Amino acid sequence: MGGTEQTYVKEAFDSNWVAPLGPNVTNFEKAIASFVSENVHVAALSSGTAAIHLALELLGVSQGDEVICQSFTFSASANPILYLGATPVFVDSEEDTWNISPELLEKAILDRISKGNKPKAIIAVHLYGMPYNVNEIFEISQKYQIPVVEDSAEALGSEFHGRACSTFGDIGILSFNGNKIITTSGGGALVTKNEEIKNKAIFLATQARDNAPHYQHSHVGYNYRMSNVLAGIGRGQMEVLGDRVEARRANFEFYKNNLGHLESIEFLEEPDGYFSNRWLTCILTPSFETRESIRLALLEEDIESRPLWKPMHLQPIFKDYPNFTNGVSEQLFERGLCLPSGSNLKEEDLKRIVAVILKSIPHV
Ligand SMILES: *Cc1c(COP(=O)(O)O)cnc(C)c1O
Repeated sequence: MGGTEQTYVKEAFDSNWVAPLGPNVTNFEKAIASFVSENVHVAALSSGTAAIHLALELLGVSQGDEVICQSFTFSASANPILYLGATPVFVDSEEDTWNISPELLEKAILDRISKGNKPKAIIAVHLYGMPYNVNEIFEISQKYQIPVVEDSAEALGSEFHGRACSTFGDIGILSFNGNKIITTSGGGALVTKNEEIKNKAIFLATQARDNAPHYQHSHVGYNYRMSNVLAGIGRGQMEVLGDRVEARRANFEFYKNNLGHLESIEFLEEPDGYFSNRWLTCILTPSFETRESIRLALLEEDIESRPLWKPMHLQPIFKDYPNFTNGVSEQLFERGLCLPSGSNLKEEDLKRIVAVILKSIPHV
């Protein structure tokens, strides 16, 4: 926590706005909008997953439709496709950003069109805070008239050529889950340039109640709105978001300065015009064995690290859906490791982690 969260939470209690609406919700939405861009409307929701679910529904995805999804991601990017009875089509990553490959994306679209099932939406992800290739993905989206859901759950504070992630897609989504760069313990948001989409999202998120004095419903609704108490935490967190990005980027720099000279450790660099919040610092090693020897050496010292996301097309729940792969995400999963990356790591923590890693690498 940054320090001012409790003031806003106390306001919620003092004014008795303990409900999924209230001044904290409205002001948290305003704070997010003014951080990412003046031209967007933001709906605060109960989770990032809920935001993806609503985004897909608002883009017209329903039973029997196909939705393209970046395979190298966390399962929450893809699960809402199944909630809607639609079929995910997984697309592998490019090496430069580790995100959805424009080349394979176009190949997937052409293949699905030739089979008579043009995808209804594309879910592209700024994984670990690194922006995907926004220009090329946008071009493909325009060319085939398929909207993009921009999963920015890990990328609040990241930018592409000076513009904030979450403002490029037809609908952007954010997460404030406990593990993200800022948190409301659990929470999310839908970001859109279209005010009508925001209003529809809130309508669906609050049980789709029609305008009538009694409870009248002509649409299936959800209970997906954010609590005014949690939005109070969010308001305080927005005040330290800039510091958090700085801290995460400083972690990355420390690791790179102290491990970057090693042949067996590679870092993901920012291509020109890309700015990553460096939510997690990830390394790529030459082999599964090297990766494991580092991970186990850290574990031995009670330091947690984790393999990179396991691609969706390899997950038991998703393995039978169509996929377009090039081996990139499988290699990342096999040889990659997320290093400790908390915003509160001290230099002595980082030094200790680096020392363990250096010792674990055979030829050093
Ligand atoms: C965390 C995360 C989500 C889901 O957000 P929740 O708020 O946890 O539901 C979606 N996509 C990605 C890439 C994430 O990391």
